[in-house]
Amino acid sequence: MQILDGKALSIKIKGELKEKITKNTLSPTLAVVVVGSDPASRVYVNGKKKDCEELGINSWEFNLQENTSEEDLISLIDNLNNNQMVNGILVQLPLPSHMDEDKVIKSISPSKDVDSFHPENIGKIMLGTYSFLPCTPAGVMRIFKEYNIEIEGKNCAVIGRSNIVGKPMSLLLTQEHGTVTVAHSKTQDLTEITKRADILVVAIGKAKYVTADMVKDNAVVIDVGINRLDDGSLAGDVDFDEVAKKASAITPVPGGVGVMTRAILMENVVKAYEEQNKLLEKACL
Ligand code: NAD
Repeated sequence: MQILDGKALSIKIKGELKEKITKNTLSPTLAVVVVGSDPASRVYVNGKKKDCEELGINSWEFNLQENTSEEDLISLIDNLNNNQMVNGILVQLPLPSHMDEDKVIKSISPSKDVDSFHPENIGKIMLGTYSFLPCTPAGVMRIFKEYNIEIEGKNCAVIGRSNIVGKPMSLLLTQEHGTVTVAHSKTQDLTEITKRADILVVAIGKAKYVTADMVKDNAVVIDVGINRLDDGSLAGDVDFDEVAKKASAITPVPGGVGVMTRAILMENVVKAYEEQNKLLEKACL
């Protein structure tokens, strides 16, 4: 059984990015917008800031009051869209309930939407013509690539159909020629689906929900879930200790998909910087 070490891979990706930034004196900038003071959002934003510092990416943080109007938030995003210094814009979700998240996300320029949540970027995933991908499913695909896990012709099951994980994950696996089944909270007989999966990706948000009896022998198991247990520790959606005995490969939590998500965000910022600068160079010719 192989542990799919997302931590080691994320360190490798970040090291390569840092080298690229230093060698070519790139100056990418990520703008992070936070509304309100949700403690979980704070943790995520601090993590992203730390990654930026480590790699030499400029990070601009905008902390807005909880009662900021949607109009003022969109006006800030508009300014960032038009600011040539800014390459990536990330609005930390969730937003306060008086704001329409879809409308706010749509106001981000697709070329600076490094989370890849904008409808235009989601559409491009469907067509396979994307420049950047949502960070979590892209992180999972990178794990498959790093560990030479063949997807073509395999039975793949994605458990969870959220817009940020399950749905894009299923499209990316389809694009790599997997035969994909998507299951969700209304699925009947989940085990019948998971038992057939050579590749099982779980993103439901329920600690240790997937047990060994639900998994096919020698399956590759990707655990996207991050759940805080009562004792303060983290657990995935998969019962790691038991499933690891049956799987051929599995991601741990922590140290699996979560750290990869962070690394891919940094990669998306650098990609956005390069693409925008290519366009600027063209415009100057
Ligand atoms: P979500 O709440 O938006 O979606 C959960 C999905 O799970 C839904 O589609 C729902 O239908 C399905 N579901 C719920 N209960 C189910 C059940 N009993 N059987 C089958 N399907 C069921 O969640 P999300 O944003 O997709 O996140 C899922 C998990 O992944 C969470 O634990 C979240 O913290 C984690 N997450 C991790 C990362 C990362 O970087 N590793 C990124 C995003 C989310």
